[in-house]
Amino acid sequence: MPNFYNPEQIIRPEILTLSAYHVSPAAGMIKLDAMENPYPLPPVLRNEIAQLAANAPVNRYPDASATSLKATLRQALAISEDMDILLGNGSDEIIQIIAMAVARPDAVLLSVEPAFVMFRMIATFANIQYVGVPLNKDFSLDLEAMLAAIAKHKPAAIFLAYPNNPTGNLFDADTILSIIQATSGIVIIDEAYHAFADASLMNKLAEYPNLLLMRTLSKLGLAGLRLGLLVGRPKWLVQLEKVRLPYNVGIMTQLIAEKVLHHTDVLLEQAEAIKSERRKMLAYLNTITNIEVFPSDANFILFRIHAANQIFQALKQRKILIKNLDGTHPLLENCLRVTVGTPDENSQFCAALHNILSETV
Ligand SMILES: *Cc1c(COP(=O)(O)O)cnc(C)c1O
Repeated sequence: MPNFYNPEQIIRPEILTLSAYHVSPAAGMIKLDAMENPYPLPPVLRNEIAQLAANAPVNRYPDASATSLKATLRQALAISEDMDILLGNGSDEIIQIIAMAVARPDAVLLSVEPAFVMFRMIATFANIQYVGVPLNKDFSLDLEAMLAAIAKHKPAAIFLAYPNNPTGNLFDADTILSIIQATSGIVIIDEAYHAFADASLMNKLAEYPNLLLMRTLSKLGLAGLRLGLLVGRPKWLVQLEKVRLPYNVGIMTQLIAEKVLHHTDVLLEQAEAIKSERRKMLAYLNTITNIEVFPSDANFILFRIHAANQIFQALKQRKILIKNLDGTHPLLENCLRVTVGTPDENSQFCAALHNILSETV
């Protein structure tokens, strides 16, 4: 019998010290924590999907190059013929593909803080050094600090979410372009919340050879399908394709995504409804004294409130689940993030918040 190793002896130390990505149990809760679209697909479309699923050849591997789905995406998202598309099992997987591909021994992956937590986590998974440059207090980009960090660390890749998560704001586009011009590495603009913002850097791809653009169907209403895409020059995507596992996008995802993408009007109408609810919620939150509400171009709202932890717990007791960001970064002290849900869910959230505040004051 050999002496079996303990995990401490063979798992990398940086993995041992990590805590797994926390997903809160949400059974029976009003779920406003994960930026999901609250609306189901219309019944007619669901019936068509049922037919597709019934006839899908699940005994076969899916199309490894997803040719048909990519053609549909190219049309639906108006992606130029000069650019290639890489598909991921959610855009999380695309971040991982990029991190693995650039993880040379001294490579650095750079982003801002606070940013999407997966940038940092995936850098650690891929054994690549992560540098997070703090945003300004109003969550705008600190260009000077970014340029200094770029000069110092010479990052292989910079990730910027546009709009940013968890803050909800769009960074200034000219500042982003200055960053793209200042770095020798690639810049990945993560447009996960594109449907809720009236801005995109898609039309800058042709101009900047080191720019890549990422989108996902998750926040648009298909989070359960797991489909993300990266758009960029063939010279980059040919290399990244080598790291992608051949069958990372399953047949159900390919079939259903393609079907729904032929009805993008449905998703865009839902996004409009969410944007209209966002306006109402922002207006309501702004009437409450002692709350600092941050502007949002996404399907969620970040706000700072006294005793955020207690408010978060009190909402939870009332079966309303939002995201508590207090303690995750100094700039997010006493900050909570609420996803925009259906009108009914949002009213319940607003009423609960009102009641909690009138009880505790
Ligand atoms: C939600 C989110 C993603 C992840 O999306 P998936 O496609 O579901 O993996 C990526 N980037 C940002 C900024 C997000 O908020």
